Amino acid sequence: MIDGYNRNISYLRVSVTDRCNLRCRYCMPKEGLSLTGHDDILRYEEILRIIGVAVKMGVAKVRITGGEPLVRHGVVDFIARLNDIEGLRDISLTTNGILLENFAAGLFTAGVKRINVSLDSLNPERYAHITRGGNLSEVIRGIDAVHHIGFSPIKINVVVIKGVNDDEVLDFAGLTLDKPYQVRFIELMPFGSGNNSRYLSNEVVKERIGGVYPLESPLRTGAGTEGPAQVYRIGGGRGEIGFISPVSHSFCSSCNRLRLTADGHLRACLLMDEEIDLKAPLRAGCSDEEIERLIGGAVSKKSAQHERVCSDNNLRKCAKQMFSIGG
Ligand code: SAM
Ligand code: SF4
Repeated sequence: MIDGYNRNISYLRVSVTDRCNLRCRYCMPKEGLSLTGHDDILRYEEILRIIGVAVKMGVAKVRITGGEPLVRHGVVDFIARLNDIEGLRDISLTTNGILLENFAAGLFTAGVKRINVSLDSLNPERYAHITRGGNLSEVIRGIDAVHHIGFSPIKINVVVIKGVNDDEVLDFAGLTLDKPYQVRFIELMPFGSGNNSRYLSNEVVKERIGGVYPLESPLRTGAGTEGPAQVYRIGGGRGEIGFISPVSHSFCSSCNRLRLTADGHLRACLLMDEEIDLKAPLRAGCSDEEIERLIGGAVSKKSAQHERVCSDNNLRKCAKQMFSIGG
């Protein structure tokens, strides 16, 4: 699928739920905000059908996300069924890691080899504060479990929040000396209820890390950039450090993705609010050709560049929050 700007759209991010077992302050209000009831969420059969059509059209990679994907009942069996879709080459998952220890073996058997775990602090009290009650040791045990089982790559996503966890960037970077993980620093984006005053540019983060650990490009083909991340390593370190900078450096020109929300809408861009409803046509009994036409419509809606990325003080917010779009 080639869009109007010559980008090959081959990656679909699928949110299987907008519910979550954490309440990260920058993502969800404390009371939770599941906008959807049981029937509003796409059934697994429906998601499989949409992915099947998308793969026929050229999607080769699917990432399962949420909300927290591991809280949806039956998610491992659902993922296992993705393997029956001919042409789907890569199945990955993004999780907060709270339930990961128990799910790790099942996920690996179901075909997930690439996993991203979100972790914004290495300090138990601070982690509990940011997530409103999360238990850091559960996440650490989950990461250890996927490491021992042999998942690769394992990426640790850290949203850097000024005045909250930015004093930990060296600790996170230092993790990559001993562990073969890719620690990725992500700029805070304009979602959620607070203002973006806690945004910190990755330029600052990179400078702080580079001032202590000389950063070099990793030694492998295609190294330096990986999807939206700029990737480096500390000389002699086992892991890598990535910078994902949607605010300071838009990566729209290489964007290859579509998003399917838990409530059955296709979204051409994370930061643009326009969506295409797939659930209503599906439930009205539409054909695969119609689904194909709607997916093609979403691809054609991809614009060259989203309009929200500008300066620190000039960020417009999305109407939906990250947990309902699928981060
Ligand atoms: N619950 C899972 C998790 O936390 O990994 C998957 C969904 S979560 C919405 C996906 C990612 O989005 C997480 O890494 C989270 O930190 C990130 N995220 C949520 N809100 C964000 C924001 N305002 N700016 C940047 N990243 C955000
Ligand atoms: Fe839940 Fe992930 Fe949002 Fe945190 S970032 S509240 S874990 S969906």
